[in-house]
Amino acid sequence: MELQFRIKGMFRTSTDPGPAKDEVLELLENARTTILSKGAPEGKGANITSVVVKDNGIELEITSGRFVRVHDAMLRLRKPLAELLGKGHRIGIRGIDIAEYTVTIPSEKPLKPLKIPYVSSMEYTDGAIVLSLDVGESEIEKRIPDRIITLIEDKVAAQSYGGKGEHWNLLWESGKKEHVFNEDPTQEMMKQGWIKRGSSRGQWIHGPQSVAVFRAFERIVIEEIVKPLGYREMIFPKLVTWDVWQRSGHAKGVYPEIYYVCPPKTRDPEFWEEVADHYKVTLEVPLDMIAEKIDKPIGGLCYAQCPPFWPFLQGETMPDDGLPLYVFDRSGTSHRYESGGIHGMERVDEFHRIELVFLGTPEQVVAHSEAMQERYMHIFNDILDLEWRTAWVTPWFMAQEGLAGLATETRVGTIDYEAVMPYRGEEGEWLEFQNMSVNGDKYPKGFNVKCQSNQELWSGCSGIGLERWASAFYAQKGLEPDGWPDAFREIVGELPEGIRFL
Ligand code: ATP
Ligand code: ZN
Ligand code: MG
Repeated sequence: MELQFRIKGMFRTSTDPGPAKDEVLELLENARTTILSKGAPEGKGANITSVVVKDNGIELEITSGRFVRVHDAMLRLRKPLAELLGKGHRIGIRGIDIAEYTVTIPSEKPLKPLKIPYVSSMEYTDGAIVLSLDVGESEIEKRIPDRIITLIEDKVAAQSYGGKGEHWNLLWESGKKEHVFNEDPTQEMMKQGWIKRGSSRGQWIHGPQSVAVFRAFERIVIEEIVKPLGYREMIFPKLVTWDVWQRSGHAKGVYPEIYYVCPPKTRDPEFWEEVADHYKVTLEVPLDMIAEKIDKPIGGLCYAQCPPFWPFLQGETMPDDGLPLYVFDRSGTSHRYESGGIHGMERVDEFHRIELVFLGTPEQVVAHSEAMQERYMHIFNDILDLEWRTAWVTPWFMAQEGLAGLATETRVGTIDYEAVMPYRGEEGEWLEFQNMSVNGDKYPKGFNVKCQSNQELWSGCSGIGLERWASAFYAQKGLEPDGWPDAFREIVGELPEGIRFL
């Protein structure tokens, strides 16, 4: 079965279109093989299945498949009909009324009940989901039905992937290595006083020794990637507004993981006085009172790090000799409301990440991704000496939009870098400690960035999670510098003394 559409709609006219009836019928008859099949494969255009010329308009029933969809058919007919009625008969088209709109979407199983705008009913019969849409002229002009169908098709596809989760394809593996350590590194760090839990969920306070290792990782990234590949440092904002996430696609899916940011309704001290007074008297922070005095969220804390960089390029044209462009940010934290349960340092709600962003022609971006993969190979083999592997996975921008599978363009996608965590056992889950993505034209398109020579622009990015590098490294090498590879010990130098307590 294929996707099927049916619409019952009427072109409302200013006066009785009766006098033009024959010409209208002729136009509609010809439309089938002309405007209603344009752009569709042979025989796959829209079909007019009924025409009734009433005294206040022309009522049509149209059916179609996925190519010239029924609402497009209505829109395509509007202009020629208006011309015919206007020129010959001084009759105007006042608007389009849609009495019925149904879509039949094949699906092996029903979907759970959903609340979707403009969908008045959703039923499952004979291997298909049948939707009734409550839409009018302005909604079809805005392509609302197309987005509803994409949404449902994505949900049907996600359901048939059924919990299989992300696509995952092994690319490379280092092979088995001996590990000097097989404890949970977070526990060991706590025991040795390198870190303590912060007061917020999934948050840590890093002591001097832990930070010395983070900074050593940063120096590795500077020396082995930033300098040789020609990256320039920037500072990306850490509060991200909705418009940025609308353009990056995150507005399609990250809601359960966002830390929302609400500004005060006003900064007038008098407006807030009762809150302060309440606290001073009761020593309780009056949360309900505060909830009344803050505005709706303007966005959230940094989630993916690169999206808030893009407004810097938004609407600009890049000179050819300014490409490829390599920039990075390490100016602040990322925040995610991670799934419940207690996690160690490897899965935190507040983390530190270096984000590398690259932009250029598709060839430049793909070539750069390969150059970067080589640098990473050197770091993980020769400096950190990890047991690690890489896998080709669902592109992160798709995953964060709630999609599964792979991109249609085969060079677009994400490489996950994973390390074995010996304390989890041989069969235990490996840890993704960083990733690298070729994002195709997603971002240049979303933020409207062009290139001087009008070539296509692509971009990519790589997020290096310091907590993840640390977790992977300690899990295999322990906290004792004696067990660390020489190349890394040289970079770290002497660890600072920790903070002592009585
Ligand atoms: P996971 O599947 O482990 O949750 P992810 O697919 O959500 O990871 P991305 O969205 O691809 O991760 O983020 C890029 C990088 O950011 C990761 O490779 C990791 O280094 C880091 N990162 C993401 N989430 C966390 C977290 N909760 N704690 C620490 N680092 C994180
Ligand atoms: Zn990114
Ligand atoms: Mg995650």
